[in-house]
Amino acid sequence: MTAAATSERYQAISPAEFFYKYREIAGFSNPARALYQTIRELVENALDATDAHGILPNIKIVIRRADEVNNYYKVIVEDNGIGIPPHIVPEAFGRVLFSSKYVLRQTRGMFGLGAKVAILYGQITTGRPVEIITSQRGLKRIYYFKLRIDINKNKPEILERGSYRKNRDWAGTIVSVTVEGDWSKARHRVKEYILRTAVVTPYANIAFIDPDGEILFFKRTIDKLPRPPKEVKPHPYGIDLEVMKRLRDNTDHPTIYDLLIKSFQSIGDVTARKILELAGIEPTIEPKKLSDKQLLKLVNTMKQYSEYRPPTSIALSPLGSEVIKAGLQRIYQPEFVEAVTRRPAAYEGHPFIVEAGIAYGGKVPLSNEKYPTLLRYANKIPLLYDEGSDVITKIVKEEINWENYHVHFPAPIVVLVHLCSTKIPFKGVGKESIADVDVIHKEIKLAILDVARKLRNYLSAKIREEEKRKKLVNIAKYIPEITRALGIILREDGVPIDKLTEKLVETVSRRTGVPRDEVINIVENIEIGV
Ligand code: ADP
Ligand code: MG
Repeated sequence: MTAAATSERYQAISPAEFFYKYREIAGFSNPARALYQTIRELVENALDATDAHGILPNIKIVIRRADEVNNYYKVIVEDNGIGIPPHIVPEAFGRVLFSSKYVLRQTRGMFGLGAKVAILYGQITTGRPVEIITSQRGLKRIYYFKLRIDINKNKPEILERGSYRKNRDWAGTIVSVTVEGDWSKARHRVKEYILRTAVVTPYANIAFIDPDGEILFFKRTIDKLPRPPKEVKPHPYGIDLEVMKRLRDNTDHPTIYDLLIKSFQSIGDVTARKILELAGIEPTIEPKKLSDKQLLKLVNTMKQYSEYRPPTSIALSPLGSEVIKAGLQRIYQPEFVEAVTRRPAAYEGHPFIVEAGIAYGGKVPLSNEKYPTLLRYANKIPLLYDEGSDVITKIVKEEINWENYHVHFPAPIVVLVHLCSTKIPFKGVGKESIADVDVIHKEIKLAILDVARKLRNYLSAKIREEEKRKKLVNIAKYIPEITRALGIILREDGVPIDKLTEKLVETVSRRTGVPRDEVINIVENIEIGV
């Protein structure tokens, strides 16, 4: 009896083992998707190591066939970023949930997961280790590592390491991962991903060499970087009891009043005193003396208090309208381009900013029959999958009547929307679609409508201009008739006919902006027709 009751086997698994088993939740569900995801993770790390630190990125991405028979691909991504201190490298690439990005500041990464899941996937499908070459500015040596992840222990297992003297001033990181992939199925997505990354990084040189040796190169077109994000303290709306307990247990601040002021943004002297009074807590009490019950009261009071300054947006790094316009320009050479960056807003204590851009005409490809081609971004990362379930799609497809903006589908139009926040409300761990949060929804719509209005103004002016031109061109058709009639009268006074025609042609040309030659052409054709 007792044996049967205890036959259950209990066990704990490491984070590495968890993601080894459930790698599909991180986007590694099949060889095609895994190849795409590997590139994405490495490129995002490369960009985080450059643009967020004020460095104009030079990124090189290479995919090489590593083994024809088995469909192994080696993905190599090189950047000119901040590099990684050598003693950190093994943990950064060999321990799942190890990151430098667990702080309140906008980055592309955030889970301490991306590179490691790619490495894990490579390790289990090809058996090959990850290779890392890195150096930082000011260091005299370049460091290299070959390592694997010990899945049971969630620890790096270093196979090789070393360093050599720099013979040129190089700083940055090169990461190579070999994974089982399916290039023919992944090709389209990978190229689309790189193109869309290039759209929002006109300040980066991006080179991509695919397994067939084909090269894509996007040359930097502006030297302006988006402002780098700054690390901030949490806003009181974003906290919970657990956060407060940790603060209480680890703080050096002598009083709860000090702790509130020093650990949170938007709490100054007046606010701290008000909150403490509402929670019935003495400002001078030592934090460690507070019971769990008092702490809970304090947390609830902090969350209910409604007079804070909204969360600061210095933790965010919006692209800015200049970068968006330059990016759309670099890829599409459109006839019209506009972009807006909305003012910061907040949800649940997290600041966010929405930006939108529109490119129309020029080399912009035709959209589908119903709505514009959409470029969605979250924290500068292009979102490619799950378009249908994204709030941006919903707004663009269902809530805006594009006909009112003189856009008739299929049309040469792309609409770009960028949401940046210290916490993007993604719908799943796959980080591919944004959930419908009221305030965010509203901001996205306002941003799109704002640029759409500018497009409408441009297109209305263009339509008006064309109508005016048509009208005057129509008038030009009468020139031969008029000159002939006037000629009959004036010839008697000795006025030369040619001069008269010329004068009329010139006037029409000046008023319509239609070149002189074109007007003459019209006039001559009419004469032929007469
Ligand atoms: P995340 O990006 O979510 O932090 P990753 O596993 O992708 O998780 O990366 C782990 C850490 O390794 C990063 O937080 C960063 O500190 C470091 N790192 C990874 N790639 C690079 C790189 N190319 N340059 C500098 N640091 C890097
Ligand atoms: Mg990452």
